[in-house]
Amino acid sequence: KRAEVANAPITPGALADGTPVQLLANVGRPEEAAAALELGAEGVGLFRTEFLFLDSKTPPTVEQQTEQYAAMLRAFEGKKVVVRVLDAGADKPLAFLNDDDEENPALGLRGIRALRANEKVLRDQLQALADADAATDADLWVMAPMIANAEETEYFVTISREYGLKTVGAMAEVPSIALQGSQVLERCDFVSIGTNDLTQYTFAADRLLGTVAQFQDPWQPAVLRLVGMLGDAGAAADKPVGVCGEAAADPALAAVLVGLGVTSLSMSAAALGDVRAELKSVTLEEARERAARALTAVDAAEARRFAAGA
Ligand code: PEP
Ligand code: MG
Repeated sequence: KRAEVANAPITPGALADGTPVQLLANVGRPEEAAAALELGAEGVGLFRTEFLFLDSKTPPTVEQQTEQYAAMLRAFEGKKVVVRVLDAGADKPLAFLNDDDEENPALGLRGIRALRANEKVLRDQLQALADADAATDADLWVMAPMIANAEETEYFVTISREYGLKTVGAMAEVPSIALQGSQVLERCDFVSIGTNDLTQYTFAADRLLGTVAQFQDPWQPAVLRLVGMLGDAGAAADKPVGVCGEAAADPALAAVLVGLGVTSLSMSAAALGDVRAELKSVTLEEARERAARALTAVDAAEARRFAAGA
């Protein structure tokens, strides 16, 4: 059954005019791979590696990590697998990377900041990824969370290359990175936009707090504008710019994101079918028109209506 599923034909994501839009899955464990493939994932756009170690009190060994990463890469043989290095902190604290005495953990040593302060943990993870890559045949891409500027991009790319990792990117989750898109893309191979955090940080509104939930909406025109800036920077640099936040799973928004210059979308596998169907009904020109209308809205609700032509 598994072999049959892995070999089943997958319709690659595309717009009505044939413009390709790679449709990928967000995953947290190798056990999720089979379901993602069954639902037509063309690969993995976000492997949240910190999910593997949420209960670990001490850093995982290189060998423990290699086993998990190789299992994921093996499941996606011949396909793209974007692995995110540990995103520790805020909503996903790891005992071996975070102190629990930060007053504002979402604004503290999170993601690449925590890894840089604990470089041995980052080096072990990069070694494990290189070892897993050598033992398997997927197309491994590696990216870091919470990159805030071009200097951090350069740091992460340089250290990743030391381990022979070939395709290295930055997540765009902090608004500052959208303001420096071309400098960032000059230094790395791709950008992946995490709209959950990009929205949280653009609006200074805790993504887990119900009282400010009205801001945590990726249809907010300010967020769309940042996505558009990154899309333009990607087109100018001729490098891919994807989205791997929840926004990608909303079919109407997915079309707008493509209209803003996004070239791949990664989401919970369950959303792939609806997004694939919606994209098939829109041309690139229409997607751009929807995006342009959404950008003129005053808030998220109006952006949704404007994009729909209402
Ligand atoms: C995001 O912030 O949009 C993202 C994809 O990362 P996470 O949700 O894991 O923080
Ligand atoms: Mg994030």
